[in-house]
Amino acid sequence: MSESKSIHPSNKQEQAKGQEPVEARQALKQMKPYSPGKPIWEVQAELGLDRVIKLASNENPLGASPKAVEAVQRFLGEVHRYPDAGAVRLRQALAEQLELSPEQLIVTNGGDELLTLMSEAFLEEGDEIVAPTPTFSEYEFGASLMGAVTVSVPFEEGFRYNIDTLLEAVTERTKFVCICSPNNPTGTYLPRNELLRLLEALPSRVLVVYDAAYSHYATANDYTDGMEFVRSGYPILVVQTFSKIFGLAGIRVGFGAASEAVIRSILQVKEPFNVNALAQVAASGAITDRAHIEASRRVNTEGRQWLYQALDTLGLSYTESMSNFVLVELGSGAQQIYERLMRKGIIVRYGAIWGLPQCVRVTVGTEEENRLFISALSEVLQETRTELKPVQ
Ligand SMILES: *Cc1c(COP(=O)(O)O)cnc(C)c1O
Repeated sequence: MSESKSIHPSNKQEQAKGQEPVEARQALKQMKPYSPGKPIWEVQAELGLDRVIKLASNENPLGASPKAVEAVQRFLGEVHRYPDAGAVRLRQALAEQLELSPEQLIVTNGGDELLTLMSEAFLEEGDEIVAPTPTFSEYEFGASLMGAVTVSVPFEEGFRYNIDTLLEAVTERTKFVCICSPNNPTGTYLPRNELLRLLEALPSRVLVVYDAAYSHYATANDYTDGMEFVRSGYPILVVQTFSKIFGLAGIRVGFGAASEAVIRSILQVKEPFNVNALAQVAASGAITDRAHIEASRRVNTEGRQWLYQALDTLGLSYTESMSNFVLVELGSGAQQIYERLMRKGIIVRYGAIWGLPQCVRVTVGTEEENRLFISALSEVLQETRTELKPVQ
């Protein structure tokens, strides 16, 4: 045994000899880890619960598009082959739907991969990106990875966008202005005219990263999914995903739309086989599945409305959402309420990661899931209110 020890020195021994392990890049020291929603199996195992409802990651409560599932099943016999490195069929189908050329599209391993790839393609050390706060963490992740700086601009009252304060934050070093619309985690959106005003005002060397992951859920007349601005040649990169309304979060596929020049640069840093073959056929199936998209949108619009009314009844404030989640204000007891909901088998997302320690973000579920969430929340509120009452 002592022999094998000398061949495989433990960490302690290495340090004793003054040997440092290989050093990670300096940029990594600045990076914050991503904090995902807790998976169902983990909460089941930890708390010994049979039924756990996850309303924490904005997944589609109706499940995946049946056409996508069917396409995956049909393709299983082919998985010994490498996938199409250019995702040609999917890009062609998307191009037709969106009235773009295939050269204006890139398919990626989830929208998240696109956010990393665009950072690798365009950000030098010391460059800046401008993003409102609170928003999706992956823009800052990509910037930090490249040693670039994220300039955070607070939202207005009610988490409304203010184009003027975003423009004021733009400097010589700004490469991206990141707009998530509808915004995660607030559900607020940037009206079409305001996006146009931003695009008109920015110098052409600044790319607007327009993350439209939740575009299919938006019901406001003045919402835009951004594609019209790609078609008319503005400096904009639209980020899309199959993880939300298409219900394919587990299979990892997303895409980007921009000018051919922007797409060409991003393609240069992409791994050849970044999107697996099952993801490609699943996405191709999903975009033809009108019935699944329509049903998902309807369940969400109705569920969102029902949640508003139920939250009103409980006397809770929330931000009206154009998305498939609602940011709910719970006051100073929010963390405790979040933990107690978890113990009852309801997983929501606690807002501290976005600097919103008084809030939780809850995904709109099925009718039944929404009802179970509200009844658990109402129980928890009663428990905490009773406990907080001074003893008579
Ligand atoms: C979910 C999400 C994405 C993309 O997620 P992937 O699963 O990586 O496709 C992008 N932006 C926002 C704001 C999201 O919420």
